Formats: sequence, structure tokens, C-alpha cells
Amino acid sequence: MRLAVLGTGYVGLVAGAGFADFGNDVVCVDIDAQKVERLRRGEIPIYEPGLERLVTHNVAEERLRFTTEIAEAVGGADVVFIAVGTPSSHDGSADLSQVIAAARDIGRALTKFTVVVTKSTVPVGTSAKVEAAIAEVCKVPFAVASNPEFLAEGHAVDDFMKPDRVILGSNDARAIEVLRKLYAPLVRTNDRCLVTDPISAELTKYAANAFLATRISFMNDMANLCERVGADVELVRRGMGMDARIGNKFLFPGVGYGGSCFPKDVKAVVATGRGVGCPLTILEAVDLVNDRQKRVLADKVVRRLAGPAAVEGPWKQPPLEGRVIALWGLAFKPGTDDVREAPSLVIARRLLEAGAQVRAHDPVALRTFQAAVDATVEPAWRARLSLHDQAYEAARGADALCLLTEWHPFRRPNFAKLKALMRAPNLFDGRNTWEPAEVRELDFHYEGIGRK
Ligand code: NAD
Repeated sequence: MRLAVLGTGYVGLVAGAGFADFGNDVVCVDIDAQKVERLRRGEIPIYEPGLERLVTHNVAEERLRFTTEIAEAVGGADVVFIAVGTPSSHDGSADLSQVIAAARDIGRALTKFTVVVTKSTVPVGTSAKVEAAIAEVCKVPFAVASNPEFLAEGHAVDDFMKPDRVILGSNDARAIEVLRKLYAPLVRTNDRCLVTDPISAELTKYAANAFLATRISFMNDMANLCERVGADVELVRRGMGMDARIGNKFLFPGVGYGGSCFPKDVKAVVATGRGVGCPLTILEAVDLVNDRQKRVLADKVVRRLAGPAAVEGPWKQPPLEGRVIALWGLAFKPGTDDVREAPSLVIARRLLEAGAQVRAHDPVALRTFQAAVDATVEPAWRARLSLHDQAYEAARGADALCLLTEWHPFRRPNFAKLKALMRAPNLFDGRNTWEPAEVRELDFHYEGIGRK
């Protein structure tokens, strides 16, 4: 089939390259000319395991190419995917301006019957809006469908190639038939396609993300409770996860969820509920708990190094002045360079505000973190932040080391080396990755999230 994909971000680039790998002819379009130029040169703008090979291979096989020209990509395509961004508006609802602009551009460019598919995460009713936007400017027949994407950054390629499920939401039988054919090779072992109406498809995506976010905020609440009552959340987590009705995935407390999806999708579905007079009280709390959780680790550092009274502020004297804090892991999770809404940004900001010198390391996210810091942190604070290519170098002279992203190399570091490098042996484990007894044996002060 001939496909066009609008948006070459985490979703569009993976989907475009993935569909090309199954033999389709794919043109990926982006309005960001620099991004397209880089892709044409063979540079992959994001870090995603396996993606570079997938893109390069399919470009070489002439099944995948990149352009800024929407008309050229869309004219003659059998299926056009919209995979552009849907960021939060000021009131938390999803900003659909990119989606609607893309739909209009597509409408102008269609030359024959085409199925236009929304892959971006969009609120209920967007399918109808996309259809109306295309119909306003389009002269040929077309059908619309909603096909939300469930890939997770860090294993996006695998998730896309072997999806748990494919949701196809449309009222048009022709659209469903075309999409079933397109997805057939990806669900060959057993048909994991679920055909729905467009609104149910749109809501399924939000419901799934909101539920996963709920598990995380729930566990963060439990972890904080564990600290107050003297329980160990690691045991509680394992005990809960042994119940087959609960399952053991997504039960890890930590420094709060981040990324480009959970925070904005929880807010967006809350806004949808509010808009139709159906308050989503649980999800409002999920969001609140998450915002609070992003501050927990920095508060622990302040409490340890400057005393409990210093946690609250406002500070006459910044409590961490002269202190050096190392951060390991800046990406919102392992396997990606994405720092959108990452807890690391909140934690680094808080530590800088408290007067600390911050030395940070991440295996792949230094560039994206620097860009985010430049855009959000005051220059005077930024001057106290340094980024390091090497993990142990970041820990040199530190009064505390905070683990924020559980990248593999951080899971079993050389603690003796760390201790020799650090000024004071304080470990703050935001991902409950290290064994408290083991590091305390080495005379480290250890604090995790909800651990004894
Ligand atoms: P992204 O910000 O990485 O990429 C979006 C791209 O769309 C950008 O490169 C932008 O330049 C481009 N764009 C904007 N308007 C365009 C237009 N009119 N024509 C062509 N290109 C245009 O976004 P993303 O992370 O890939 O997410 C895209 C959508 O998929 C969002 O709705 C998101 O919620 C959803 N989603 C994301 C993930 C994820 O893990 N990132 C997973 C599932 C779903």
C-alpha cells in the first residue's frame, strides 16, 4: 500500500518506518524542515532502540522517504496517518490545532479515495472534527478512522511491530477493511484488532494511559504511607503483584511519572470529563499526587543535608548553598532521550533553587535536558548546573547522589568507587533500584521511596 504519515516524532517515525518494513511504500512528512533534512542525511533525531536500523534499511530499500511537501506525499496515498503533536492547552485540554491544520492540508492534497487515520492521542469527538475539516476543502471521496497508538518510548519499535492490540475506530466499513489489510502482517499470530466506533477508540487510549498513571500514583501514595508507618513498599509491591487480579506491572513507586503522554493525557481526560459534567475525581487526584511526588526526592535531600526545618521554605538563606548534588538519569524513563515533563527537571530546579551545585549525567538525554533547562531555568541558577558524559565524573565531590532514571548501568554501580569519589556518602534512590542493606553495609546513608 502507499502510505503517508504526517509528523515524524516518536510515533510517526516509528510507525512510518515500521509500515515500510512490512513492504509498504511510505512517505513521512514533517513541517520541521530541519528534522526532515536530518532524516534525509540518515540522522535519527530521537534516541529509540532499533529505530536507526529500521529507518536506514527501509530508506536503502526505497520504501521510506522524507519530505516537507504534504501534497506530494498525500496525493495518491491509500492511507494517510496523522501523527502530529497534541500538547496540553492552558486549561489541561488537548490542543488540537496541529491535528486540524494537518487535516486541512490533507483535504487539499487528496487526489483519490483515501483513508485518513488519526494516530495522535485525541479527545473524544476529534474524528468528527477531522472529517469536517477535510470535507471543507476536499473534492474527492475519503473515509476517516481513529487508530490510537499504544507504543511506549524505549521499546517503541517492538511495541509497534508486535502490538498487544490494534484499535480501529470508524463508522466507515471501507476504512476498516483497508486498515485490517494494512495491519494483518503485524497481528498474524492471532488477530488482535478490535473494531470500534470512533469515540470509543479515542477514549480507549485515554482510559489506558490514565489507568497506568493511576497505578503509579497509587503506589507513590502507598510508598509515602509505608515511610510513615514503618513498612517497606518493596515488600508491599511484591505482595500485591502476586495477586493475579492485580498483576505485577506498573506497581513501582518512584519520583513521579513524566513523559509526553501520561501527564498531558490525564489532564486532557479530566478536562473532557469536566466539559461534559462528569468529574473524574480519581484522575484529578492522580495528577495531584504526581505533582507532589516529583518534589519528594529533593525534599529528602534538603532534610538530610540542611535539617527538617529547611524543607518548607521560604528560605532566607538557600539551604543547600555550597553543597554538590549529583543526578544520575535525566530521561523520564530508561531507553529514551525524552525529557518532556521529566521529574529530573523539577528535581534539578528545586535543588538549584535551594542553592546547590548540580552535576548531572544521563547516557543519552544530556542534549535534550540541556535544551529543556535553557528554556525553563533562570540563567543565574543554570550557572550552577553542569552536565557530564561520564556517570562517575558527575558524582565527583558530591554530598549526595540521586538516582532518577533506572538505566541498566546504574543498577549495579561500583559503590566502592562512588564512595571514594563522593564528598559525603548519601544515596537517594528515586527508583528503589539499590538494596538498602547492601549499601548501608558500605556505610552509605540510603533513602529510597517508601523503603525501610
Ligand atoms: P512529537 O512532538 O515527537 O512529534 C510530532 C511531530 O509532528 C513534530 O515533528 C512536528 O514538527 C510534526 N508536525 C506538526 N504539525 C505537522 C503537520 N501539519 N504536518 C506534518 N508534521 C507536523 O510527538 P509524538 O511524541 O510522536 O506524539 C505524537 C502524538 O502521538 C501525540 O498525540 C501523542 O500524544 C501520541 N502518542 C505519543 C506516544 C509517545 O510515546 N511519544 C505514544 C502514543 C501516542
